Amino acid sequence: MPDAAPHSGSASLREKLGKLGIDDESGLILHLPLRYEDETHLHPIHDLPEGRTVQVEGVITRSEIAYRPRRQLVCRVEDGSGALTMRFLNFYGSQARAYVAGRRVRLLGEARSGFFGIEMVHPRCRIVGEQEPLADALTPVYPTTAGLSSETLRRLIRQMLQRREDDGDPQRHLGETLPDAVLQRHQLQGFRESVLFLHQPPPDARVDSLRERTHPAWRRIKFDELLAQQLSMRLHHRQRRTHHAPPLPAKGSLTGALLDSLPFALTGAQERAYAEIGRDLAADHPMQRLLQGDVGCGKTIVAALAISQAIENGYQAALMAPTEILAEQHHRKLTDWLGPLLAPLDAAIVRLSGGQKKKQRQAALAAIGEERALLAVGTHALFQEMVGFGRLGLAIIDEQHRFGVHQRLTLRMKGATGGTMPHQLMMSATPIPRTLSMSYYADLDVSVIDELPPGRSPVATRLVADTRRGEIIERVREACREGKQAYWVCPLIEESEALQLKTAIETHETLKQEFHDLKIGLAHGRLPPREKSAVMEAFQRGEIQLLVATTVIEVGVDVPNASLMVIEHAERMGLSQLHQLRGRVGRGSETSVCILLYQKPLSATARERLRIIFEHHDGFEIARRDLQLRGPGEFLGARQSGVPMLRFADLERDADLLDAARAAAEELLGSHPASANRHIQRWLGRKSEYLRA
Ligand code: ADP
Ligand code: MG
Repeated sequence: MPDAAPHSGSASLREKLGKLGIDDESGLILHLPLRYEDETHLHPIHDLPEGRTVQVEGVITRSEIAYRPRRQLVCRVEDGSGALTMRFLNFYGSQARAYVAGRRVRLLGEARSGFFGIEMVHPRCRIVGEQEPLADALTPVYPTTAGLSSETLRRLIRQMLQRREDDGDPQRHLGETLPDAVLQRHQLQGFRESVLFLHQPPPDARVDSLRERTHPAWRRIKFDELLAQQLSMRLHHRQRRTHHAPPLPAKGSLTGALLDSLPFALTGAQERAYAEIGRDLAADHPMQRLLQGDVGCGKTIVAALAISQAIENGYQAALMAPTEILAEQHHRKLTDWLGPLLAPLDAAIVRLSGGQKKKQRQAALAAIGEERALLAVGTHALFQEMVGFGRLGLAIIDEQHRFGVHQRLTLRMKGATGGTMPHQLMMSATPIPRTLSMSYYADLDVSVIDELPPGRSPVATRLVADTRRGEIIERVREACREGKQAYWVCPLIEESEALQLKTAIETHETLKQEFHDLKIGLAHGRLPPREKSAVMEAFQRGEIQLLVATTVIEVGVDVPNASLMVIEHAERMGLSQLHQLRGRVGRGSETSVCILLYQKPLSATARERLRIIFEHHDGFEIARRDLQLRGPGEFLGARQSGVPMLRFADLERDADLLDAARAAAEELLGSHPASANRHIQRWLGRKSEYLRA
């Protein structure tokens, strides 16, 4: 930032600004106040409104350091209309020396009526002379960071705004990015006017209208922010059309054979989703589609059809999963489905796993490179370190929500060779609320599977206090005796993976003692991959009746005969995690039960989460509430990702602006590309380079 901090020349100021996300002049201008203080009026002491920050001025008539109930500085301040007590529970010696009888002071604080009349505790206090002029406008209070005062920011921003006015270059940082027609259509006020208003509210601006952020100036800023997001997402969407991808039209040879071999018919929703995907694959630019559907709706078979379509065109496909267990399961399932159809081909389906011997791994990589492998399945991590596909036509990312927005945006560029990119299909069981899919996911096309395969019965959810553990153990015993299978999910311990592991091992030991007549397995993230898959396979085959597991089984695991799940310390888990876990049961025709064990006392949020998961089964509804509870940053797992999060707009509250911004984005990209560019530059600056990467 060459001239935003020219006067100090200090690198550390720049660093501090960087912490606030300010890395250029526009960043400084868009660093808008959190709130305002009103120093434009003096209130008479005899008539102070309660619960509001107000300014008063008076003369100190008495000042003392009191020692009861604790050491404090107490001053009496009178203004002719009345008197109040000013109290400092922590104070410097310099304050005690300054605030002495006879001094005229101006206080800014909240007045309360206490036992000794009106009081202000820790007001902002300044010694003033008589007739000292009042501020002529509201004082902005900025978000700050350690070592950077609101005062410094105020000064920097003021200088910035003034300089722009003086040096005759108003276009650059305060200039209008939007064409008149857009401003008029959406009834927006000018950018310059809005920013000046928010940084330097005029004397008649009221705190109230600014606090609610409904003021036209705020509206404009929120619109701009949403517009920048829409533009960047739409640009991604368009950019993809400029890339080339191999057209992979459905030929029917493999896809048809796969459909014929299935023991079930596709649901209507699966058919629709596959039709959309199949159409995208036939195009000569890369598909970027998100396949969304609640747990258990059957996304895997749709993926298998897409894979078949790529293969029947002579291309390779890759399937990435977030965990080894899931990758293993996919490999097994796809080998079941496609293996027989590809039988004549050697090494047609390969697996890339962390537990593989070097030799196996090299063989798999060789098969991929020599195009003998038509399908490779593995974890996302494994794909990142290697990409040797000769003819990759389709990349599928399962449980996409686990990867976060940032990874999604960078991942897509992988596998791009010589100007062509593979088609991409992302799958997610975390339904994305409409406002989010319109914003953070606006660069994707979306297919939805909104129907479960027939014959499923809903999962009954029970909330049980931890104190009734004994009953639950009996219940598990009974179920297993009847030939059912059960999961016992160990608590999530966020602070320490080691501790979580220990808990899982101990739980496994304890339960083994309880159920000496049952076969019990243990699955956790640290198990050597080979053991992990051995356990999962044994559970799949019904040789293990009770599977003690950490949350590694949260995603994707599919064992239809398992109809009972116990989740320990459910109060520690997030909503989507609980929903995902619960989705592991209820996959067969047996009525399934999910028991959420919780430990008291419950925090308010934990109580709310348990209530929501108890009352709702629809993943969409759960996701919507999750978004409300956590906010988009955490919901998207994008906190640290560098993807620009919204600072001013609130997707729920400003949904109307989101619609408007979306329309405006299309218009700008269509008819005013230069405006669009300037707008993105202003709002995303360096981040827009990342977005272009
Ligand atoms: P998810 O969408 O959660 O990934 P899966 O693809 O694992 O779900 O499917 C869940 C289960 O439903 C699997 O056992 C799968 O074989 C089965 N299934 C998928 N589609 C159908 C269908 N149309 N009819 C019957 N069973 C189906
Ligand atoms: Mg799945």
